[in-house]
Amino acid sequence: MLIEIGDVSIVIDAGPDFRQQMLRAGVQKVDAILLTHEHNDHVIGLDDVRPFNFKYRKDMPVYGSKRVLKETRDRFKYIFKDDKYPGAPMIDLIAIDDQPFEIEGINIQPINIMHGQLPIHGFRIGDFAYLTDMKTIADKEAEKLKGVKTLVISALHHWEHHSHMTLTQSVETAERLKAEETYFIHMSHHMGLHEAIDGQLPAGISLAYDGLILEI
Ligand SMILES: [Zn+2]
Ligand SMILES: [Zn+2]
Repeated sequence: MLIEIGDVSIVIDAGPDFRQQMLRAGVQKVDAILLTHEHNDHVIGLDDVRPFNFKYRKDMPVYGSKRVLKETRDRFKYIFKDDKYPGAPMIDLIAIDDQPFEIEGINIQPINIMHGQLPIHGFRIGDFAYLTDMKTIADKEAEKLKGVKTLVISALHHWEHHSHMTLTQSVETAERLKAEETYFIHMSHHMGLHEAIDGQLPAGISLAYDGLILEI
């Protein structure tokens, strides 16, 4: 997910397609990357921050919980070792907890959600919120989403899964969180074709797709 507010660009998660996604969208600048959690499909593209390092000659700020940053350090040992190769990515890891923080004057509220047994982060920025890989959300955290107009949440496929919501569970969650517009992401190919599924969803709920742009 790329979020552009004025001339500030923030990316949420850097999966295996990060490089291709940045090229496809013609992204010239990324000011920070927020990590929801340490699973490979959310972090393994981090090596490709190099062009931004070279272009702007500065480290890429990467935000995540202490656990996520530790896992990132372990997975990308060559980035964080003392005698690193000069061309290796330059990443500045910044730990967050459940307290709001700012990037270039933009307020970001972390939302604690559960990915099965694993506590992970979603993020609220103004009237927009992004919650991926969610199985459950406590009432206390759902409170922090009050007034959100545009919500992005995950919906895996049609069968019960230990750490992801099914389509039905995601629809129920969208209805509970009551955003004006909800978009589903992180779908398995078992979800079925966009055309077949999207039309069956209640008003205000849609399947997202690669390259979707929302102006809010
Ligand atoms: Zn995950
Ligand atoms: Zn995932």
